[in-house]
Amino acid sequence: MEYEKGLQIWSRACDKLRDILSKDVYERWIAVITYKGYKDEVYHLSVTNDFYLSWLEENYSSLISEAISSVTGAPARIQLVVERDAVPEPEGDEEEAPKSRRPRRQGADANLNKDYTFENFVIGPSNNFSHAAAMAVAQSPSRAYNPLFIYGGTGLGKTHLMQAIGNFVLSKNRRKRVSYLSCETFTNEYIDALGQKKLTQFRKRYRNVDLLLIDDIHFLRGKQQMQEEFFHTFNALFQNRKQIVLTCDRPASELKDLTPRLVSRFEWGLVTELEVPDIETRIAILRHKSEYLNLAIPESLLFFLAERISTNIRRLEGGLIRVASYISLTGKKDKKDIEYLLRDTLDQQQDHYVPVDLIQRTVARHFGIHVADLMGKKRPRSIAHPRQIAMYLARCLTQESLPSLGGAFGRNHATILHAYRQVEKRTGEDNQIRQTVNTLKQKIAAEARGQTV
Ligand code: ADP
Ligand code: MG
Repeated sequence: MEYEKGLQIWSRACDKLRDILSKDVYERWIAVITYKGYKDEVYHLSVTNDFYLSWLEENYSSLISEAISSVTGAPARIQLVVERDAVPEPEGDEEEAPKSRRPRRQGADANLNKDYTFENFVIGPSNNFSHAAAMAVAQSPSRAYNPLFIYGGTGLGKTHLMQAIGNFVLSKNRRKRVSYLSCETFTNEYIDALGQKKLTQFRKRYRNVDLLLIDDIHFLRGKQQMQEEFFHTFNALFQNRKQIVLTCDRPASELKDLTPRLVSRFEWGLVTELEVPDIETRIAILRHKSEYLNLAIPESLLFFLAERISTNIRRLEGGLIRVASYISLTGKKDKKDIEYLLRDTLDQQQDHYVPVDLIQRTVARHFGIHVADLMGKKRPRSIAHPRQIAMYLARCLTQESLPSLGGAFGRNHATILHAYRQVEKRTGEDNQIRQTVNTLKQKIAAEARGQTV
């Protein structure tokens, strides 16, 4: 099918979608799609980032196919891909070709996600050392630290930071040869090259770059021959004063079956760790992301997400995008609905059994009052306030029913519910109360694990 014809079909399908979806949803999720062409009986569509892709695939792909097929009267298959915004071509490039299909010359090799920049990287205590090291390397490649070895758990920003170096170097000088690839790709290319007897080409390709970024180096574990090959690539680059940056899910010395000479080389330069971000950093990341993507999410929900998704930034972002879409689709912003929506993503708060009396003791100690006061009827604020907080926490952190919690505080269920609602409301409005509640939650969790803080 000709491009023009396909485009017409697509635009009529869009009309149909506009009719059935709300304006907000249409603008947010459908208007951002670009029609690329029709090939092998598939409609090829593109969006500019992974968020759109995953949300569309999860929620709208069948609706989109149906809209197309209602225009053509035949079943339609669609394929969505991510195509980042085009970057200006360097001058004097190749002959005419459809712009969107032609990879930019440097970008093709560099293989970088242009959203992974230093500007988009939120700094906090968990990552400021790694960030500073990455920045130093980006500013003076092969002079600051070589290699730079960044390690840390999944979803903590290793790939982002590594690619930020590449993007920075290219932004200063587009002629620099930058190569980003996962260790797995590196391995596969090596195996292909072996099979096709193109080893020389392979070596030339990776030993002639200015900056080599190899992601997830733990993939080398147990692969002797690959380690050998990598060892030589490393040496060639290092001797030519070319910058190498590596990421790994743990310190090199903890990689089993990694030849000691590689371990020692990985530690020649600087080794930095990306840690799990604290709550403030998580909130800052969510704020940054929601501004960047222009999402309208109430501040209280950002807090909620930051609080309940604590160990993986990728999951945090995934949660954000799902919440944004959910709100735009349903108009619902209730915490309970969001909690249900994200039930598989949120941290399990119940991994340790928390007895009510542990909560009472911790809260009483925190406020310097007697546990008995929490159960009494005294009303001065110095006691009523901790009491409400204790009730609130008991409701949040245990599975006990309201009547049973009432019993534990010498009250009825309605008092507990009232306290819960009061505190819930105030944590949304008052920073200080929110912080007190968070601190107490951490103390209680630590106590429940048998530690004290
Ligand atoms: P890793 O490679 O460690 O598994 P990624 O670099 O893929 O993690 O990061 C996961 C997601 O979290 C990415 O979308 C990335 O942009 C985002 N991210 C991680 N750290 C930060 C940060 N400090 N500021 C902003 N976004 C971050
Ligand atoms: Mg990664």
